[in-house]
Amino acid sequence: MTNTAAAHRDRVVEIYRDDTAHVVAYAGTAYHLTPCCDASAKGSMDSIVCRSCYQQVSPMYGMGWTLADDKDWARFRAHMLAEYPASAQSPDERRAVAL
Ligand SMILES: [Zn+2]
Repeated sequence: MTNTAAAHRDRVVEIYRDDTAHVVAYAGTAYHLTPCCDASAKGSMDSIVCRSCYQQVSPMYGMGWTLADDKDWARFRAHMLAEYPASAQSPDERRAVAL
């Protein structure tokens, strides 16, 4: 274990999280949380699944945005709020859409 990894992400080391937009960023990569579990998504075979319950989700949840600084986070968050207004729906409604 060296300090290389830490040095690599020294510009963005904070975990950003916005539960109203259901977006999070860690170590310079921002992504959308799954509608079922508010978890990250991951690739499984030929699909994208929720990392928590392994239910198949939209490929959108598997995409990540690279962030370099706080301005990038603000831009990403604003984009996600505009494109995917999850905060306008209750968790149950979002769950129904995902099924
Ligand atoms: Zn899930």
